[in-house]
Amino acid sequence: MPSFSTQKYYLMKALVYHGPGKIEWEEKPKPFILDPTDALIKIYKTTICGTDLHILKGDVPEVADGRILGHEGVGIVEEVGSAVTGFKKGDRVLISCISGCGKCEYCKKGMYSHCEKGGWILGHLIDGTQAEYVRIPFADNSLYHIPEGSDEEALVMLSDILPTAFECGVLNGQVKPGDTVAIVGAGPIGLAVLLTAQFYTPAATIMVDIDDNRLQVAGTFGATHTINSSTENAFEEIMNLTDNKGVDVAIEAVGIPTTFELCESIIAPGGRIANVGVHGKSVSLHLEKLWSKNITITTRLVDTVSTSMLLKTVTSKKLDPAKLITHHFSLKDIVNAYDTFQNAAREKTLKVILTND
Ligand SMILES: [Zn+2]
Ligand SMILES: [Zn+2]
Repeated sequence: MPSFSTQKYYLMKALVYHGPGKIEWEEKPKPFILDPTDALIKIYKTTICGTDLHILKGDVPEVADGRILGHEGVGIVEEVGSAVTGFKKGDRVLISCISGCGKCEYCKKGMYSHCEKGGWILGHLIDGTQAEYVRIPFADNSLYHIPEGSDEEALVMLSDILPTAFECGVLNGQVKPGDTVAIVGAGPIGLAVLLTAQFYTPAATIMVDIDDNRLQVAGTFGATHTINSSTENAFEEIMNLTDNKGVDVAIEAVGIPTTFELCESIIAPGGRIANVGVHGKSVSLHLEKLWSKNITITTRLVDTVSTSMLLKTVTSKKLDPAKLITHHFSLKDIVNAYDTFQNAAREKTLKVILTND
């Protein structure tokens, strides 16, 4: 039996899921190195994702009672396993939401999201980042060095939402110079699509949402047109804006049937529909209208293959994801932060930052 003081040393605080609707900031055992490829990270800053709200609603049943949530964050390396060569104690690191072993068939293809031993496991199948400490498996493939002098809060946006928006939305949608792009959903992911689509200078970016505040933010982020689909007919507006042709790229960033079906209805011949949203229900596919239109529909789970590139665009100030951060909390106030994040329309919330202070 460890003495009281030693035992205390092995405890930490974390945000723990206890079944649908139930989360608690409570004591948990501090993680330790299990495998030689692991790193133990002291969390500095983390955030809450829309996916965490899906878990809280009970939409992700494989998340067990007692699981620590969270798959985003930056921190400091506390300890590394004997096989880790790229990182050492004291390094400041960005944590990827995807863990890749780097050796399996999928990892060899750059499809880390489907890694046979990893993928999206943090805050899902293993304990996550909404804690004072987290164990990161396959550390060499799943962590990134933070360059000196970086805005570490901004880099939290690189754990998940920026690579998700860029890979699943912009890359899969093949956004090209001069394209007309519709982004359906102006939440943090839709706004991150808007920011990263601009790498390719589309001619028009049309944002569709039901929240006027988010549409106003989209305007300040460079959207050329905004449509509130609760008060305007989004289909008609988009047809008017495009001489009845429709858009070259329609990016779905909500995850419900109505928004995906809107993308189907507004796509121009030769266009691409890129799905980013997490869907819980089946969607009607209008092949009777689409079969002859030379369109492409893509789906993807983020592979985080673009993280290094995005990191350079942020550190060189070509991209400013800190614009997505609206609220700050101390990590110990995370239950309040969940409330603010859940009531996004009322609180005008985009992303929240939690600091382990
Ligand atoms: Zn996420
Ligand atoms: Zn793998």
